[in-house]
Amino acid sequence: MDHFLYRDGVLHAEDVPVADIAAAVGTPFYVYSTATLLRHFTLFDDALNGMDHLVCYAMKAASNQAILKTLAQAGAGMDVVSVGEYARARAAGVPGDKIVFSGVGKTADEIRMALTGGIRQFNVESEPEMEVLNRVAGEVGAVAPITIRVNPDVDAKTHAKIATGKSENKFGIPIARAREVYAMAGAMENLDVIGIDVHIGSQLTELAPFELAYAKVAELTVQLREDGHNIRRLDLGGGLGIPYARSNEAPPLPTDYGALIKRTVGHLGCEIEIEPGRLISGNAGIMVSEVIYVKSGEGRDFLILDGAMNDLIRPAMYEAYHDIVPIIEPAPGAEQAPYDIVGPVCESGDTFAKQRMMPRLNAGDLVAFRSAGAYGAVMSSEYNTRPLIPEVLVNGDQYAVIRARPTFDEMINRDTIPGWL
Ligand SMILES: *Cc1c(COP(=O)(O)O)cnc(C)c1O
Repeated sequence: MDHFLYRDGVLHAEDVPVADIAAAVGTPFYVYSTATLLRHFTLFDDALNGMDHLVCYAMKAASNQAILKTLAQAGAGMDVVSVGEYARARAAGVPGDKIVFSGVGKTADEIRMALTGGIRQFNVESEPEMEVLNRVAGEVGAVAPITIRVNPDVDAKTHAKIATGKSENKFGIPIARAREVYAMAGAMENLDVIGIDVHIGSQLTELAPFELAYAKVAELTVQLREDGHNIRRLDLGGGLGIPYARSNEAPPLPTDYGALIKRTVGHLGCEIEIEPGRLISGNAGIMVSEVIYVKSGEGRDFLILDGAMNDLIRPAMYEAYHDIVPIIEPAPGAEQAPYDIVGPVCESGDTFAKQRMMPRLNAGDLVAFRSAGAYGAVMSSEYNTRPLIPEVLVNGDQYAVIRARPTFDEMINRDTIPGWL
């Protein structure tokens, strides 16, 4: 459920007509709903009620500081995957002890900055990383709290580019080698081994893979405790999927996911962390774009939008589906026609949808891409020297631009010309 609904025939973001924002900031742009962000965070938080827990928002999904602050004020921690994200979270007011550092390639510099700045834990992904962490912690006179990310060899049944829990993926250490690697970590002077981490992929639309993975983590917890490790925290990752095609998808609910967590690891007395990204911000954002031209092609009509693959890359990169709806609600039974919906970028990959049934649209009409709040703005680029599009946050009947569109001068002046030219 989200707060982008038609009211009196026009699409609203909470209480604000989307067309009003378009008139003020120009298209294309992203708009996020505070109520939807908070609703989704609270769903997770409530689903873990009765267990000591922290919901760490995986901020790579949408990392504008206004979004981070909204969630942090509601009690969220953050999962970061680079020191840039760490700095951004801190700038948004998130304390270090609520920030978890994940990622397969943390550099010594990144580790040093997070250690000296304050960090809840490092989720270590390999033995060489463990050695660097131990060395850097020694250099700065700190003890680094760690979990080790285990790869449970579970098929997440999701898109290959976002599956992370199979043995052939680059993530974590094979669960079969976990006891050996934990023993190495336990012997390292500057590490405090506090728990286990697992994250098997993104956009999971069934609970069964989580159940398999968490059962393996539970078993490992018992073994590691027998080996003498004080395992007291389990980071169970993120990955719960969202419905992109509203009409025919119903992924599992956070409540059922919470029940699964209690069932599989609840008896262990560990503090639970989860790292949802997509399910918190995905349906809390839409991308709004204007139809520039309606072009009749050979046997097909194209809707050419002012938004493009550089603004929302998911269709080009993951063959992702997004519901695309007109800002003006079509009359019931309105005539529909199939369109190829494309952007202006000079490659055929810049296609959002093929032969999508839409009400008849004209140049100047506005459309909204639903479920664009996760892995949307954060993955945008300036390809074709197109400015990064603005981000807007709505809260009830108020809205604010939370990232402005850069001017062409700002973009162009970032280049520097060498002296020999
Ligand atoms: C990407 C990622 C997440 C978030 O995944 P979602 O599918 O957005 O919930 C959580 N943890 C780690 C380690 C990740 O890499």
